[in-house]
Amino acid sequence: MSELQAQKREVTMTFPYFDAPCLVEADRTRLKQVLINLLSNAIKYGRAGGTVAVEYAVCEGETVRVSVRDNGKGLSLEKQAQLFQPFNRLGQELSTVQGTGIGLVMSKRLVELMGGRIGVESGVGEGSVFWFELKLAGDERAQPIPLAPVSIVIAEQFSALPKARTILYVEDNPANLKLVERLLERRTDIRLLSARDGGVGVQLARTHRPDVILMDINLPGISGIEALRILREDPATAGIPVVALSANAMPRDVEKGMEAGFFRYLTKPIQLGELMETLDVALALGTGENLPLEVVS
Ligand code: MN
Repeated sequence: MSELQAQKREVTMTFPYFDAPCLVEADRTRLKQVLINLLSNAIKYGRAGGTVAVEYAVCEGETVRVSVRDNGKGLSLEKQAQLFQPFNRLGQELSTVQGTGIGLVMSKRLVELMGGRIGVESGVGEGSVFWFELKLAGDERAQPIPLAPVSIVIAEQFSALPKARTILYVEDNPANLKLVERLLERRTDIRLLSARDGGVGVQLARTHRPDVILMDINLPGISGIEALRILREDPATAGIPVVALSANAMPRDVEKGMEAGFFRYLTKPIQLGELMETLDVALALGTGENLPLEVVS
């Protein structure tokens, strides 16, 4: 939801990977509002062309702290003290950007109503870290939870180049995600979106219209083949080349994949040269357009 705003200021955003689901006691909508407020501030007041990183840490097994870190000008202690005061429009005297004092005051109120804490760590010239802490959900702590909505992981590299192409990688194995992310790091012409299951993958494909999709086959929930079928049936996504990237490497698996309509079928372990060549061919042929991004709620 903050992507368009980040793109306008050429801010690179990074989000954490969760090895396991992390559940908190909170109102879903309010929590989202708080996070969006912090992200929006970080993008607005951070450096144009800078970075905004979302991080999390579990504190003593009781609470989780979510931090939004920017590499902007930072804030003096005096400014930090004023931040959460009603009607303070911090930053207005520093720039032409509209102040968001009320947003932070609301965020503080909401976090406290949910039994949490909110704060800031900053120093002039050091950037700022806005954080909030919420109680971990007690009953859920020990239970394994299917990786459904909490599995949404978006790692985005916004390129300053206007022609940046988007690749969506649907993959449940964090090691493979990390690997492809690293392989593509140097490709400033490519930005990578990722999803950990087929359902989220289909959603992201509809919202972001990537130029190419890389699809694992064995996924939690629907399989990569099923996800491909859904993408093919939707005119909005039917034209996007979908490349299978799977550990199922038997000739029969490959044949099945090609029958299903994959653009190509690559097998794991991932081969750098083969992957890059395939992406270049798919990008060249791709009919998926980079439509202006919509804000979704
Ligand atoms: Mn898999």
